[in-house]
Amino acid sequence: MSFRARQRLRLAGLPTDKEIGKALCKGPDGQIAGGPVAEGHMYGVTIPVSCPPGYNPVGTWHTHPGGVVEPSPEDWEMTRKLGFRYLCVTVPETGQTQCLDARRHRK
Ligand SMILES: [Zn+2]
Repeated sequence: MSFRARQRLRLAGLPTDKEIGKALCKGPDGQIAGGPVAEGHMYGVTIPVSCPPGYNPVGTWHTHPGGVVEPSPEDWEMTRKLGFRYLCVTVPETGQTQCLDARRHRK
């Protein structure tokens, strides 16, 4: 991720005392939109599978305050259970973001 993109995330003021997350939704022309943002606690967030009209959920994004940008085993389990393809994690303190493709992830 570029320095500029990191700056934008930092300016967005992501909370560092709790995880937040949202569904990633794909529109009819392939554009990506986010669902409503859910707030969780320090070690987890329940992400609502909710998308704007005409969009289908394809993944999730959430934060790991004070943590690593690597998804946890629970994150992968949730992604598989929901049949989602994309799993994105951001560390709010650094703005570091990683998006992984479940089809390419083997464990
Ligand atoms: Zn996680």
